[in-house]
Amino acid sequence: MLDLPFDFAPFEAGTVWLAGAGPGDPGLLTLLALHGLRHADHVVCDALVDARILALVRPGAVVETMGKRGGQDSVRQTDITDRLIELARQGSRVLRLKGGDPFVFGRGPEEALALAQAGIKFRIVPGITAGIGGLAYAGIPATSKDTNSAVAFVTGHGADGEVPDEFDWDALARGAPVMVFYMGLKHLDRVAKRLMAAGRRPDEPMAVVCDAATPRQTVLETTLGQVAEAVATAGLKPPALLVLGSVVRLRDRLDWWSPA
Ligand code: SAH
Repeated sequence: MLDLPFDFAPFEAGTVWLAGAGPGDPGLLTLLALHGLRHADHVVCDALVDARILALVRPGAVVETMGKRGGQDSVRQTDITDRLIELARQGSRVLRLKGGDPFVFGRGPEEALALAQAGIKFRIVPGITAGIGGLAYAGIPATSKDTNSAVAFVTGHGADGEVPDEFDWDALARGAPVMVFYMGLKHLDRVAKRLMAAGRRPDEPMAVVCDAATPRQTVLETTLGQVAEAVATAGLKPPALLVLGSVVRLRDRLDWWSPA
């Protein structure tokens, strides 16, 4: 397939690879994830994985979609981990494929912990997370020398589906010049108000990137004060990333990609 001057780790029978598929564009898969796709007996993927990536599986491999979308518990997490354990115990090479990176807001750690507890060998195959690679496809860097030397990745809803309250919003608003929100649409109005109450200016630039790095990518540029209304008016749907901060302004010169 690929003529490379090194060997990949062998995909052993009875093991699980927890791999990231990147934000969308199949070209953003890692070589190791591609190797996993080509050697897995079972691919258990979540709902965000692009069909063009699933088309790369080895002929004869079984593909199952088990995953969550937009924070909805379409499948119970324990059902997913039980299935991974069951397949591994049957001696399968199991590729658990997730959107973006498996260890960024993706329940990867929970699945790896369950595998560890069950005594199943696993490997983590990191992927390009949407909050970095997806934003790059919208011409928005996570950092740049002249705008920010820190960036916060934040989930727009916590494990219970509500606005996360386990962190200090005031400290976050003061300390993170750029914030990238995953799963941010559901509670957008409340989060935006919370950030303004914590001192962020309503005219701060904000972008909403839907289906980043896919042929359906759309980008809305707005401000913190107007984002909730703008998203509602445009009828934007998940998956979406929200970016707050002056990196958004660089997009007028860095918007390099057109999805069509
Ligand atoms: N593990 C994933 C994130 C899973 S949480 C990663 O590292 O990227 C799911 C959230 O990720 C979505 O609600 C959305 O906020 C974001 N997301 C994932 N893929 C996306 C894409 N192609 N475009 C926009 N947002 C995306």
